[in-house]
Amino acid sequence: MKDNNSFDIAVIGGGPAGMMAAGRATELGAKVVLIEKNEILGKKLLITGKGRCNFTHNELDIRKFTEKFGRNGRFLYSALALFGAGEVIDFFESRGVKSKVEQGDRIFPEDGNARDILNVLRKYLAEGKVNILLNSEVTEFKQENGKISQVLLRGRQIYADEYIICAGGKAYPQTGSTGDGYQWAEQLGHTVITPVPALNPVKTSEKWVKELQGLSLKNVSLKLFQNGKKQNERFGEMLFTHFGVSGPIVMDMSKNIGTLLKKGPVKLILDLKPALDFKKLDKRVQRDFQEFKGRMFKNSLKGLLPLSIIPVIIKLSSIEPEKKVDYISREERNKLVRLLKELELTPTGLLGFKWSVVTNGGVALKEVNPNTMGSKKIENLYFAGEILDLDGPSGGYNLQECWSTGYVAGKSAAKGH
Ligand SMILES: Cc1cc2nc3c(=O)[nH]c(=O)nc-3n(C[C@H](O)[C@H](O)[C@H](O)COP(=O)(O)OP(=O)(O)OC[C@H]3O[C@@H](n4cnc5c(N)ncnc54)[C@H](O)[C@@H]3O)c2cc1C
Repeated sequence: MKDNNSFDIAVIGGGPAGMMAAGRATELGAKVVLIEKNEILGKKLLITGKGRCNFTHNELDIRKFTEKFGRNGRFLYSALALFGAGEVIDFFESRGVKSKVEQGDRIFPEDGNARDILNVLRKYLAEGKVNILLNSEVTEFKQENGKISQVLLRGRQIYADEYIICAGGKAYPQTGSTGDGYQWAEQLGHTVITPVPALNPVKTSEKWVKELQGLSLKNVSLKLFQNGKKQNERFGEMLFTHFGVSGPIVMDMSKNIGTLLKKGPVKLILDLKPALDFKKLDKRVQRDFQEFKGRMFKNSLKGLLPLSIIPVIIKLSSIEPEKKVDYISREERNKLVRLLKELELTPTGLLGFKWSVVTNGGVALKEVNPNTMGSKKIENLYFAGEILDLDGPSGGYNLQECWSTGYVAGKSAAKGH
């Protein structure tokens, strides 16, 4: 008979991975405690997808899904086979939350509210009678004979047969993900691949960027160069901020930028008109100049560009703003076209963990069994979610990783209980 402090399974961290692990384990009959240091469960989950929660990606081909996580993605193969995007959509739909597919195959709850997703999980935990300890910070794990014997909270000890660590990474620490899990993992003998920010806004050195703060550009192309060699290219949406650039295509490139910056300077080349090649864009500019005949250059770009970027382009073109378009030389026009196709930005660094969406690095995958999420070092220990050395692009991939690994960890830890 287990007392109030003794459980079959202790899950540490009440984020997406922890909630899924705890829910699945009780569904299979285990007595589970879920320990969370915040005053609520799923604090970060509530702000995902700008509060709308892009909870998975419309990609049912497991191989293609895993490829998005780079080389480490192979680790996810069996977890996705058991509980992939299709199963996750069914999981929420069968509990009353329909999903909708948006641009780029991103999947959101139909009513566009992350709270709907959290409510389903809370109900799932309540149905299984999971003991939820809020405002409960885990400080330490105790080991005996190669097994974890207890977990220490401030002022309380919890005993369990199995322990699942789902304490998240270091990204957005204001939501509770302060990297505590990495320290425990190391103390318990695991290797932790140095965590660095991923899906992070990028700082740039150009002063004019500030003038564009708040400007969002759709359907643009961004290329990343180092030593004249193209390293990455993305097409889609980006945003100018007071310190540099952000938005999906920048965030998805940020890990690459961070790594390359350690080796030397890099350049970003923004193509504002990727649908037109140089020749076609030049023709288009000539047509616009024809249309604005007799008018000043500064008033001739309205058809081509968003209003707020026009003064910046004019300044960078070095063409006299009051010059009549009729007198703009071919050379000047070429320079303008080049600016529109190859606007240069110089990254100086990433904004850091505080504004990072996900963590790159974490518990080394070679020390975790991909079929069970069980530790290969400690018999009664499991990991799930962002704490693992896995990170995908934006688009619902990262939450899917949490659902899949959480589900598998919960299932494996519950075995025999
Ligand atoms: C702004 C933002 C938007 C995002 N949008 C999306 C999106 O739309 N789609 C997507 O797929 N991904 C998105 N993500 C990423 C996604 O939120 C994470 O991948 C996911 O939350 C990780 O889940 P997790 O359960 O592993 O960790 P977390 O969600 O970080 O949960 C870990 C929990 O552990 C708790 N904890 C930590 N230390 C302790 C301790 N010592 N004691 C007790 N509890 C502890 C924390 O308080 C936290 O609640 C977004 C992230 C951010 C920051």
